[in-house]
Amino acid sequence: MALQLYNSLTRKVEDFIPINPNLVTMYVCGPTVYDFVSIGNFRTYTTGDLLFRVLSENGYKVKYIMNLTDVGHLTGDNLGDADSGEDRIEMSAEKEGKSSRDIANFYIQDFIKNYERLGLKKPDKFTKATDYIKDQIELIKMLERKGFTYKITDGLYFDTSTYKDYGKLSGMKENESGDGARIEPNLEKKNPLDFALWKFSPKDKMRWQEWDSPWGRGFPGWHIECSAMILTELGENIDIHAGGEDLRMIHHQNEIAQSECATGKKFASYWVHTAFLQVDGGRMGRSIGNAYTLPDIEAKGFTPAALRYFYMGAHYRKKLNFTWEALQNAQNAVKKLYDLVGTYEESKDAVLAIDFLDKFNEALNDDINMPEALAVVWELVKSEVAESSKITTLLKFDEVLGLGIENYVGFEIPVEIENLARVRTQYRKSGIWDKADLIRREIESKGYLVEDVADGFRIKRKV
Ligand code: AMP
Ligand code: ZN
Repeated sequence: MALQLYNSLTRKVEDFIPINPNLVTMYVCGPTVYDFVSIGNFRTYTTGDLLFRVLSENGYKVKYIMNLTDVGHLTGDNLGDADSGEDRIEMSAEKEGKSSRDIANFYIQDFIKNYERLGLKKPDKFTKATDYIKDQIELIKMLERKGFTYKITDGLYFDTSTYKDYGKLSGMKENESGDGARIEPNLEKKNPLDFALWKFSPKDKMRWQEWDSPWGRGFPGWHIECSAMILTELGENIDIHAGGEDLRMIHHQNEIAQSECATGKKFASYWVHTAFLQVDGGRMGRSIGNAYTLPDIEAKGFTPAALRYFYMGAHYRKKLNFTWEALQNAQNAVKKLYDLVGTYEESKDAVLAIDFLDKFNEALNDDINMPEALAVVWELVKSEVAESSKITTLLKFDEVLGLGIENYVGFEIPVEIENLARVRTQYRKSGIWDKADLIRREIESKGYLVEDVADGFRIKRKV
């Protein structure tokens, strides 16, 4: 089966057909780097990673970009108006007594460290919004020239009524206001859903980050960065655009509006949205104190692989509930898999278990169905397939699973265990069963199993 993906734009599962079969282009909306990145955010980046790996399994080369938002993401976003409130980066700078640039650099470094610890495929580039200010200004100029903008007191805005397809992704029309609008609307806007392309610096307050533009000194609106970076790095139209489900209604709808109005081309073919990670059945949030980070879970003895396995236990479009118990179950499963692999005997005659590989790939190509793919892993482990072939097949699976299975393949039998087993065989040959039994138990207490075979003994790791 060829790769099929659910497309949030058409709300259907579709065959994946790239614009250029030789190079798939993919963009994932990355973090706003004003604080530590949570395991909620990392769920969305794990979907990006899995998409990348599944595309590679299907033989595609992928050009992959992820942005880092270091300017313009305002606090009003959570209250239904992304053009109001304070710039998150500037706010953290004030709180921590550092410059905006230092704040961004600090959290970027921390993010990338955890990204690597989770073994996520690195994009070709992590693009920082402040490195693309010129590109953003150029794009806004293009929109202005084509008559899609208007200026009000606090900035230059996109006029959503000029774009007939507004609402294709979100389902909202330009004269509606977002469900979440819980703050006073900006009455100068022509339509409630119009959004800022460029915001002017406040008169009464100094900003760390501001730039000159044809419209006045200020900073870019939140949405324009993604459109501009995509245009510069990947071109006018891309294959896959992904992010968390919260971005679908406003941020992604606005990216489409800007990009399609500027270029006159379709922006992205497939929109992939990851459902939120919840905690104990409710919202995860910094203010609630449950926006756990990778170091938080590692401090409790959990491994990055356990978190990855936990993510893969649910389909990316289903909400996933984080509990410590669920993470413990994931860690147990990963450990069991490592232990089993450690007991398998390698052989030069190993072959791929093709039936299992086919089933595994079918699950991947069925809209990245990781729970189904994991089920195939356990079916293989329980099957009659030769141990050496199990190893070969699991290593192939692991190109997508990313659990580091290769580190557990093959094992050295400690000399001490080997000697004990030899002595035991001697006792058995002499019919001294009680002593042989005693040694067997000693070997077991050291974590190994000894089996009697025709030409002597065989040692396995105990699971
Ligand atoms: P932000 O740092 O808020 O700009 O979010 C960065 C990315 O993480 C976006 O794609 C969000 O949609 C996503 N995200 C944020 N919180 C969660 C969550 N609890 N579960 C899954 N994805 C999330
Ligand atoms: Zn974006």
